Amino acid sequence: MQDIDWNDYALETQAIRAGHKRSHEDEHSMPIFTTSSYVFKSAEDAALRFTGQVPGNIYSRFTNPTVNAFQERLALMEKGERCLGFASGMAAIMAVGMGLLKAGDHVVCSRGVFGNTVLLFQNYFGKFGVSTDFVGLTDTAAWAAAIKPNTRFLFLETPSNPLTEIADIAALADIAHAHGCLLIVDNCFCTPALQKPLELGADIIVHSATKYIDGQGRCVGGAVVASEDIIEKAIYPYLRTGGASMSPFNAWVFLSGLETLAVRMKAHCDNAFALARWLEQQPGVAKVHYPGLASHAQHALAQRQQSHFGGIVSFELAGGKAAAWQLIDATRMVSITANLGDVKTTITHPASTTHGRLTPEARAAAGIEDGLVRVSVGLEAIADIKADLLRGLA
Ligand SMILES: *Cc1c(COP(=O)(O)O)cnc(C)c1O
Repeated sequence: MQDIDWNDYALETQAIRAGHKRSHEDEHSMPIFTTSSYVFKSAEDAALRFTGQVPGNIYSRFTNPTVNAFQERLALMEKGERCLGFASGMAAIMAVGMGLLKAGDHVVCSRGVFGNTVLLFQNYFGKFGVSTDFVGLTDTAAWAAAIKPNTRFLFLETPSNPLTEIADIAALADIAHAHGCLLIVDNCFCTPALQKPLELGADIIVHSATKYIDGQGRCVGGAVVASEDIIEKAIYPYLRTGGASMSPFNAWVFLSGLETLAVRMKAHCDNAFALARWLEQQPGVAKVHYPGLASHAQHALAQRQQSHFGGIVSFELAGGKAAAWQLIDATRMVSITANLGDVKTTITHPASTTHGRLTPEARAAAGIEDGLVRVSVGLEAIADIKADLLRGLA
C-alpha cells in the first residue's frame, strides 16, 4: 500500500485509500496521532529535520501524521502538488494573504465572496497597506480592468453564495497570468468532486473543510492546495510561524468525510436539482437560482466547468421579506441556520443574516433581494424537504 502511486487512481479511490501510511501496528483505519512532539534518533537527526534536509515529524504545529494524511489525500483529489491543513477556512485564506502579500500590494476580489473574506481583505490586510478592489464575479472585463501593476492575485468563489453565479475560471486564469498575477479559487461549494480549479488554470485553491468535506457539521477546518513551489516558499513558512494549524482530531474527521465526498456530492446535487425544478413550478416563487436550470445566466458555463451543479439553491419570493420569513418559520424539519454543506438541509434569509451587515444599497447591488431564501439541500428524502417548504409557501 505504501508504494502505490495514487496519481494513477480515480478521485473516488484516492478519497478512500490515499494518504494513510500504515504504521508498525498494521491498523486498517487511520489513527489519530495525539502527540505534540516527536523523538529524534540523534542530535544530528534533530538538526537535519529542523533544516528540512531530512523529512520527518518535528512538532505538531506543522507536522502531524493524521494531518499529513488529510493533506496528501486532498492534494491528490484536487490534482495539486501539495496541500496544507488549517484551523478553519478563514485561517487558510489568512495564510494565503500573509504568505503572498506585502504592504503596497493590491488584490482584486469578487464582490460575491464569503462575508468574512471581504472583511479580512478590507479591514485587516487594509490596515497593513494592502488595498483590495471588489468586482462582479461574472464580469470578466471588470476583472481585467481592475488589475494594477501592483496586483498580486485575483480571488473568487464559484458558484457564489447565495445567488450561485458562476465565474469562468479558465478565462480569469488567463487574464491573471497575462498580468503576472495568481488566481485563487475558494472551492468550498463544489469541492474536487464537482470542479477542479487547478486543472482549469487556477494557481491556489482554498477550502473551508467545515462544509462539504466534513459533510456532517462536526468540525471547523480549512486547507490550501497549490504547487510545491508556492506552498514551500509562501504558505508553509507562514503556517509554521503563524500557527493556525488543523488539529489531528479534526483531520481524522475530515479524512472520513473525504471517503464519502463523491457519493454525498452526487446525492446533494440530485436533491438540489429536483428541488430547484419543483420550486420553479410553485406559485409565489418569483425566481429560482440554480446553475442546473436553463434559466440560469451561466448554465452553459456551469455544464462545461463543473461535473454537476451543486447542492445550494436560492429563490426569491414575490412576497418579499414577510413571505421569506413566513416560509422559514413554517419549516419543522429543515434547520434554520446559516451553515451549509451538511447532510441536514438548512435554510437561511441572506438579507437579514449573512448579508445583514451590508447597507440596503450594497445588498441591492449584490442582487440580494429581501425575498431571497437560500437552501443548502441535504440528503433527507426529497419528498420530505418539499413538504417542509410547501407548508410555508401555501
Ligand atoms: C464557511 C466559508 C468560509 C470560511 O470557512 P470557516 O471554516 O468557517 O472558517 C470560506 N469560504 C466559504 C465559501 C465558506 O462557505
